[in-house]
Amino acid sequence: TRCQPAREPAQAGQRGRPPLIFVISGPGGVGKGTLVARLVDRVGQLWLSRSWTTRPRRPGEPADAYVFVDPETFMAEADSGGFLEWAKFLGNMYGTPMPAPPPGHDVILEIDVQGAEQVLAARPDAVVVLVLAPSPEVQEERLRSRGETEPALAQRVSIGEAEVRAAQGLARHVVINDDLERATQELVGIVESYRTGLPSNCSDA
Ligand code: 5GP
Repeated sequence: TRCQPAREPAQAGQRGRPPLIFVISGPGGVGKGTLVARLVDRVGQLWLSRSWTTRPRRPGEPADAYVFVDPETFMAEADSGGFLEWAKFLGNMYGTPMPAPPPGHDVILEIDVQGAEQVLAARPDAVVVLVLAPSPEVQEERLRSRGETEPALAQRVSIGEAEVRAAQGLARHVVINDDLERATQELVGIVESYRTGLPSNCSDA
């Protein structure tokens, strides 16, 4: 039947199928980063892309959260075609290097909605997942707790609302991060469903 899973999930790379691209997007403060880290921990053979940014490193932020570069270095890379997509967000540039996953791995991108749009234009088969906070209050609190200043916080919240509207049309899945463990499981299920070729909304399997 239509919902029959493949007997063996096909592996990405070399002689297998091309790598799947999962784009995890959504406004700041919804917990994308935490969810993605847990996803990569739980599911094997996922390769998390590391973006470049011109944003200064936040206090306490790991040095490898991004490749932190100055605007000249960033633009030189963009001009030489080094990015799959790049976008300006709150005055800083963010870009995804051309993905180079090891054989057998699928790709995870954690990027903003403008980036998701560009990835879909280049790779229409990419799977966009929109992550949302359970409420604006929770989202604001998360932004505040990571040391965002009040003006930047207000800006991020209002940009977030526009992002959600734009993302509704792009996303194949929407995950509400109401409970971290539940949301992680949902994301794991989405990734696994594409690996087996079984749509996760397949009810008669
Ligand atoms: P932050 O400054 O909070 O780390 O990131 C701001 C926004 O930029 C977030 O929505 C984050 O997902 C997004 N972002 C991070 N890396 C990239 C990237 O390579 N490209 C795009 N378009 N957005 C990114």
